[in-house]
Amino acid sequence: MIRDNINEVRSKIAASLVKANRIDEDVTLIAVSKTKPVSAIEEAIKYGATDFGENKVQELTDKYDQLPNNIKWHLIGHLQRNKVKYIIDKVDLIHSVDSLRLAEEIAKEAKKKNLNARILIQVNVSKEDSKFGLSVENAEELIRMVAKLENINIVGLMTIAPFTDNPEENRVYFRELHNLFVDIKQKNIDNVSMEVLSMGMSGDYEVAIEEGATMVRVGTTIFGDRIYSN
Ligand SMILES: *Cc1c(COP(=O)(O)O)cnc(C)c1O
Repeated sequence: MIRDNINEVRSKIAASLVKANRIDEDVTLIAVSKTKPVSAIEEAIKYGATDFGENKVQELTDKYDQLPNNIKWHLIGHLQRNKVKYIIDKVDLIHSVDSLRLAEEIAKEAKKKNLNARILIQVNVSKEDSKFGLSVENAEELIRMVAKLENINIVGLMTIAPFTDNPEENRVYFRELHNLFVDIKQKNIDNVSMEVLSMGMSGDYEVAIEEGATMVRVGTTIFGDRIYSN
């Protein structure tokens, strides 16, 4: 049941914040609705979900057209440059920027629509699993270059940790991204604000919150297993 699942995730988020002594802080729950029907999203909205994550442009825009316009949409998957134009004025946050070329395209399309795109830089902390995201070592250089572009604001960092049955194994990666987050924040780079640390999925969001996540991306635990056809 989506209602029970959301409530359970919410209470675990609250408990993790307490455990980490982050009592006055908040974590944004992104309900990852990829492959799930519009009806499932409507149900989640009924039980208080406000933020939804999709990893495919076409799926996001299809759902966007069918759902209320106060939803905050998050593009969490790899984004091809030629598709930026379809989502630029529909998403609240793009989590997956890992190259200057992509950032330039986002800035260009944002300028056309006279808006400021909010983005996260995707970092591949674990150096495995995902072929996307840049290394911790290269993150600052990219951030400094993207910061010079107009119509685009870097507001934080994102990572995808490896899939594991033991969330404790991912603690080191979350800690490392948090360290980078604090590091970059302290450098006070113009046009860069470190407000959002997007890390943690169904299997490991509690550990991610203990390590400083401000946004968690939870799919399976809310909506059930994904069924992929063909
Ligand atoms: C699918 C996906 C999620 C959600 O994964 P679950 O394990 O179902 O919670 C989170 N982040 C990204 C980038 C994803 O692609």
